[in-house]
Amino acid sequence: MGRLRTIEDLGDLAGRRVFVRVDFNVPLENGQVADDTRIRAALPTIRELREAGSPLVLASHLGRPRGREVNELRMDPVARRLEELGGFEVGKMDGWIARPGEGEVVLLENLRFDPGEEGNDPRFARELASLADAYVGDAFGAAHRAHASVVGVARLLPNAAGRLMQREVEVLSRLLEGPERPFVAVLGGAKVSDKLAVIDALLDRVDAVLVGGAMAFTFLAAQGAETGDSLVERDHLDTVRAALDKAVRRGVVVVLPEDVVAAPEATADSRKETVPADRIPRGLKGLDVGPRTVEEFTRVLADARTVFWNGPMGVFELEPFALGTRGVAQAVAAASAFTVVGGGDSVAAVRKFGFEDSVDHLSTGGGASVEFLEGKALPGVAVLMEE
Ligand code: ADP
Ligand code: MG
Repeated sequence: MGRLRTIEDLGDLAGRRVFVRVDFNVPLENGQVADDTRIRAALPTIRELREAGSPLVLASHLGRPRGREVNELRMDPVARRLEELGGFEVGKMDGWIARPGEGEVVLLENLRFDPGEEGNDPRFARELASLADAYVGDAFGAAHRAHASVVGVARLLPNAAGRLMQREVEVLSRLLEGPERPFVAVLGGAKVSDKLAVIDALLDRVDAVLVGGAMAFTFLAAQGAETGDSLVERDHLDTVRAALDKAVRRGVVVVLPEDVVAAPEATADSRKETVPADRIPRGLKGLDVGPRTVEEFTRVLADARTVFWNGPMGVFELEPFALGTRGVAQAVAAASAFTVVGGGDSVAAVRKFGFEDSVDHLSTGGGASVEFLEGKALPGVAVLMEE
């Protein structure tokens, strides 16, 4: 991998307009920003560029408008929250044209209202590039997409990574290049099919994989366990068996749940019981890992020197099935290791249980962090690297 260009590489920025691709793809509720983590995460770069004397053109996508104007997905609430958090005025544009003057910050309209964004249309990229003298890419969460504002505009201007992008790439590279051992991966979440590529890539690098979440049941089923009504992806049983064989060849320890919390349905008032993971009765679904499993995972994590966690251990959104995810969050937080959590729901869980200050890095990029660890070149990172 080449070297990532950083803000220093852009030289003196006084009076030079900078186009900053930020990731303001935040959840909205009733027209308000429901979680401003991503806006906060972009502030260091924005503040630094303002102090350097650059008029700023900020731009992001929001949701999935699919190339059409959707009133509920306008950037106005984001602009207001950015003003509150940043303590500076933000001019919200109704389109994609803005030429801010000295000391000004403007936020363009949702980039994905224009079909040229997702299509990486050269016309749209030229239009955006014409607004600025330099480009800063800080949207790590969108770096796995070869869209106009992520790649096309960067190619047309002197460009560099923002501080958030820089930190994400530094931290995740540290997991790929010579991590301290033992290196333990904790994997969970909804679907094994979403995670097969990252599991395969991690098996080349880690010493142990702890498997929880719904995907554990496909692993358990692959080993002949009775999984009751749990979510098993039958189409992927062979791939999972191949992963288990690879783990044996590579000397990677795979730890599956010993016990699980099961219930007829994933509801807050469902009758639940803790059962052995290989004998889940019919009529019950595994919805969390059990207390013995949390103990075993905690033991492995206590010896780790590097930890990567992606995917909740259970349906943590519902209190009866939150124990496993809370327990793992606590064990990751307590580990004397370099700890990284990636994935939207996993990061939300760490925050919900109050461990965000005890984890070294919470990645803002769900899909992007996983693809990075798969060893894929992310277009939005590659474009900011020296040849
Ligand atoms: P991330 O966003 O961190 O990558 P995923 O999107 O893969 O994580 O998975 C998160 C979802 O997985 C959560 O909504 C959680 O409720 C669900 N989940 C975890 N365990 C189970 C389970 N045993 N059965 C059903 N859903 C589960
Ligand atoms: Mg998710």
